Amino acid sequence: MLATNPTPKPQHSKNVMKLEDLQKFCGTDETRAALMRPFSIGDRTFATDGCLIVWSNRIPEVEESIEVPHGKVNAIVESWVDGPWLDLPKEIPAHETSVTCGDCDGIGPCENCDSTGVVEAKAKGVKMGNKILSNKYLLRIAHLPNIKLAANSTRPLEACPIKFDGGFGALMPMREN
Ligand SMILES: [Zn+2]
Repeated sequence: MLATNPTPKPQHSKNVMKLEDLQKFCGTDETRAALMRPFSIGDRTFATDGCLIVWSNRIPEVEESIEVPHGKVNAIVESWVDGPWLDLPKEIPAHETSVTCGDCDGIGPCENCDSTGVVEAKAKGVKMGNKILSNKYLLRIAHLPNIKLAANSTRPLEACPIKFDGGFGALMPMREN
């Protein structure tokens, strides 16, 4: 029999994200420019800011990046564990993006807040499974359809596997509250 296109793996068929949805998980730190846009490795396309990584099936137009450490990314994918899955906590504390800068009490001039008088609040830890996860990141993933976390499947300070309709990911836990 002649070779034909291989049948896609069933678990892959729905793991597709739009580029603009993946882009939301990219970093904004210009000193880590390689993380400011999605990148592909093999048959997957990734977005990460260094704390949260999300991936789906390869988006054809997203190219591989030589600036991204492939070994580190592949290690995260390989250590990803398929459950047991937990739902997000019912209540996640709000993340405040503009609280008064403690260095200058909001009156500047100040390097800490670029003299804007406000800074982003520190993330609050949310206990989930054997981990403490950042409210900021839990809120960022909360809208993903059918989001689940395997918060008991790896050691407390190891990345927490996540899955949702469209893709997979891993979230680094916090050390303490
Ligand atoms: Zn300040």
